[in-house]
Amino acid sequence: MSLLVVGSVAFDGIETPHGKVERTLGGAASYFALAASHFTPVRLVGIVGEDFTAKDEAVFRGRRIDLKGLEHASGKTFFWAGRYSQNMNERTTLVTELNVFANFNPTLPPEYRDSSAIFLANIDPTLQRSVLKQVQGKPKVIGLDTMNYWIERTPAELRETLKHADILMINDDETRQLTGEHNLLRAAKAVFKLGPKTLVIKRGEHGALMVHKNFIFSVPGYPLEEVHDPTGAGDSFAGGFMGYLGGVGRVNEQTLRRAMVYGSVLGSFTVERFGVERLTKLKRAEITARARLFSRLTSFKL
Ligand code: AMP
Repeated sequence: MSLLVVGSVAFDGIETPHGKVERTLGGAASYFALAASHFTPVRLVGIVGEDFTAKDEAVFRGRRIDLKGLEHASGKTFFWAGRYSQNMNERTTLVTELNVFANFNPTLPPEYRDSSAIFLANIDPTLQRSVLKQVQGKPKVIGLDTMNYWIERTPAELRETLKHADILMINDDETRQLTGEHNLLRAAKAVFKLGPKTLVIKRGEHGALMVHKNFIFSVPGYPLEEVHDPTGAGDSFAGGFMGYLGGVGRVNEQTLRRAMVYGSVLGSFTVERFGVERLTKLKRAEITARARLFSRLTSFKL
């Protein structure tokens, strides 16, 4: 399946107990594309400013990432900065400068309009929908991420966009906030009424839970000795998940379960180093090896 992602391409400032970087390539679409491109070609739709140089773009080159949809505008690239707590479970946003992102109006290159797998990363739900409107025919699978900001400020627009999504991928707080249900299974039923028939709840180091009308599947977080920077774990999860589905070209219970594992594998690699570094050095053989370890980690006899 041809996989399209729309979302932020950014410069990030990151502070964790393991160090600090002032400015490194980030953004949801960057993590997603780097993760997904290990499985299938990715079409990236986003916007950057004049400060985004050929050297920054080089990170995406030589991979199966098509940048025709990456608009270069006058002004500065979206900048985000965050600081993690000592145990890295809490994150404080220090800076959000929208810059060129403030006037972003995604336009799909004609070659992207036949995309059959789509991931709408966390951006304004109205922009997410505008991307869907530009796609021809009915895509096989549409995944969507969002955050508290849109749940609070644009609830009607978000609900409209959700009607078109197949898989909603959010964290547990966002699930509760969106549905008003504390219990995650009840929350999933509420989500099904909004449109998506699959809810994937990302739970950081505790793994991820998938609730589908007919089945539930859970993966743990991969036990790691070294976690340097949790930034982008959720977007890398989404990239591994959607990339795997795009690569196999089928969406059913079996492939959705495997997608959960590949999502967790990609998320677990990302957090081992700062920013996108680990993803850029990752080899397909390492992904396969860690997926096997996941299988052993969770297998048992009754
Ligand atoms: P995650 O750690 O998976 O939640 O994603 C972190 C990435 O999201 C960072 O690389 C940021 O550049 C990006 N980001 C942070 N805030 C926003 C926002 N309001 N809209 C879009 N992207 C954002």
